[in-house]
Amino acid sequence: KPMEGRITDIGPKHYDQFYPEVIKKNKGKWSHHEILEPGVLVHVAESGDEVFTVRCGGARLMSSTHIQEICDIADKHCDGRLRFTTRNNIEFMVDSKDKVEALKADLAQRKFPGGSYKFPIGGTGAGISNIVHTQGWIHCHTPATDASGTVKATMDEVFSDFQDHRLPAKLKISMACCLNMCGAVHCSDIAILGYHRKPPILDHEYLDKVCEVPLAVASCPTAAIKPAKVELPSGETVNSVAVRNERCMYCGNCYTMCPSMPLSDAEGDGIVLMAGGKVSNRISAPKFSKVVVAFLPNETPRWPSMTKTINKMIEEYAKGARKYERFGDWAERIGWERFFDVCELDFTHHLIDDFRDAAYQSWRQTTQFKF
Ligand code: SF4
Ligand code: SF4
Repeated sequence: KPMEGRITDIGPKHYDQFYPEVIKKNKGKWSHHEILEPGVLVHVAESGDEVFTVRCGGARLMSSTHIQEICDIADKHCDGRLRFTTRNNIEFMVDSKDKVEALKADLAQRKFPGGSYKFPIGGTGAGISNIVHTQGWIHCHTPATDASGTVKATMDEVFSDFQDHRLPAKLKISMACCLNMCGAVHCSDIAILGYHRKPPILDHEYLDKVCEVPLAVASCPTAAIKPAKVELPSGETVNSVAVRNERCMYCGNCYTMCPSMPLSDAEGDGIVLMAGGKVSNRISAPKFSKVVVAFLPNETPRWPSMTKTINKMIEEYAKGARKYERFGDWAERIGWERFFDVCELDFTHHLIDDFRDAAYQSWRQTTQFKF
């Protein structure tokens, strides 16, 4: 028998049970919204009701005590309700302006022992929101770089733009730690992508014992893997696989299926930077990000070359773009050649993308084409 309030006995309750009263009352009948200051929004309903939202950056990993504290804040100020955005921001909502100041003051005084904010307010409008990112070295099997480390190092550098609206338009930064890409690097203004540069290592001795050879063969998107009989140093012949290295694009799919095909490599792994993507249809059509830095090594723990390059791109964008112009629109207007020049990036043949697919050149992809 389904549990009370659920359609089945698995999963959460229906989301409409969690709406704040004012949202339940005005659902589908909103008139407009405004950003009052960095991190604070107001949504006004046709009825005249208002909802004030205070947005805070969420932590990359949250302990149960931290989540308890978030719930306590929601209980104290917001009738026990809150929401998380797709960029891991936490939004606390109240139904009157008087309650906003008390909420902001409460959030601002909650600090870690070192003095840094637990709940920094910001992430709205013409600034930088939280970085959407993937799992990294601790939690996934195919990363070519870390997510926690790169995101923390970047966010520390650009934090003032999380709390400010000085940029020409919003600037979305994303991170994915391999090109299987659980993040949003294909469509972000600036993106950090972990990249392997070496094909998988083949552990012939164990491969047949821990993997299904047909599954390993089928896992490869470029058909680089084929079955092979291999003679071990002991003289024994075993079933294994062979990889045509020139076909390998270092995606790590085979390792997902077969733990005897690892491809992590301290020298081969690192970071690619991409830029100019967006999902928005505002002003210009959505765009894919383009590779602008072909490779940077994993300089743990703070990735200084990466953060320096990202900072330079942001500063040039802040200086050169027109109001409301997204990063890619700016680069296209001044010309990508000039973009490489002003951002002091080297252009190499690795950056030339010759990918062609009719589907990506169709007007169906955009609402900008209004016939
Ligand atoms: Fe794992 Fe790749 Fe996703 Fe990172 S991007 S979490 S390595 S699949
Ligand atoms: Fe194929 Fe990707 Fe494995 Fe290379 S890393 S062999 S492309 S599945």
